[in-house]
Amino acid sequence: MLTVNAVAATSATDPLVRTTVERRDVGPRDVLIEIRYAGICHSDIHTVRGEWGKVPYPLTVGHEIVGVVTEVGASVTRHQTGDRVGVGCMVNSCRECDNCKAGQEQYCLTGNTGTYASVDRDGTVTQGGYSTHVVVDEDFVLRVPESIPYEKAAPLLCAGITTYSPLSHWKAGPGTKVAVVGMGGLGHMAVKIAAAMGADVTVLSQTLSKKDDGLAFGAESYYATSDKETFKTLANTFDLIVNTVSAPIDMAAYLGMLRLDGTFVSVGAPPEPLPVQVFSLFNNRRSFAGSSIGGIAETQEMLDFCAERGIASEVEVITADQVDEAYERVLKSDVRYRFVIDIDTLR
Ligand SMILES: [Zn+2]
Ligand SMILES: [Zn+2]
Repeated sequence: MLTVNAVAATSATDPLVRTTVERRDVGPRDVLIEIRYAGICHSDIHTVRGEWGKVPYPLTVGHEIVGVVTEVGASVTRHQTGDRVGVGCMVNSCRECDNCKAGQEQYCLTGNTGTYASVDRDGTVTQGGYSTHVVVDEDFVLRVPESIPYEKAAPLLCAGITTYSPLSHWKAGPGTKVAVVGMGGLGHMAVKIAAAMGADVTVLSQTLSKKDDGLAFGAESYYATSDKETFKTLANTFDLIVNTVSAPIDMAAYLGMLRLDGTFVSVGAPPEPLPVQVFSLFNNRRSFAGSSIGGIAETQEMLDFCAERGIASEVEVITADQVDEAYERVLKSDVRYRFVIDIDTLR
């Protein structure tokens, strides 16, 4: 066992504390990673505050992890000491079900093993990336290309793949019109990736306050959803709408912006149901879909794509003592566009 420094939540309401967590000994197929940066995802906040169910406190969250390999098990072939690597939202899956065999481990029929708050194969509860080190099975460790700085790569492991996967699945590219709803951590990556894929991108944000950024990230146009005219102007326009917002929205109004065979896909997860009138799907043969992160091979493809196209996350680097403050700012949408913890401040 390796005892390493970490930041943990001890309850839904108390501030996070500096503590230690145990990492298992490096097994034959394991990789020991010295973590350099860990991104702060909205899911971390939902989880530690108990909004997504019972929490095994004390809990260390964080599933946007980048660092360097410092030790590998005897049978490891995919990584070696000194490699730049990343770990996203899952650290294992059954590997035998139809979905795992199809490379869609995120949809493992027995449930994937989450990077934190999941029960691991050895019966322990997984602890996430707000920590100096982590031990992960080599198959769930990604290569981080040299050209992407560590801190800008971290958010790609959740925000990047969560938006890349639906954009790729629904074939965003030249000749397609894509709308991105929300300009936060997920939204800003959706804009960059969709634009890099060659799609004509529109941002739909509550206000126009981030318009300059949106256009700089590659969007062609930018509309405020607080303006009712937006929905009339953009009726029957998009092939794909990627919704990154985790709040209730007027589904009929958004579906009305889809053109023939268009799809509205939600990657944001509002706690309440989103009611849909089936009639709003009849027109233009529209679809309403969901999507969850991406498979391991697809996550590698996304990292390589971002490196090739020279795109990465916009980040604000913070210390390990600023996480509570960062959470409050995330809840107020006061971040451009992702907080990333400098893990050197935890050593
Ligand atoms: Zn996340
Ligand atoms: Zn499986």
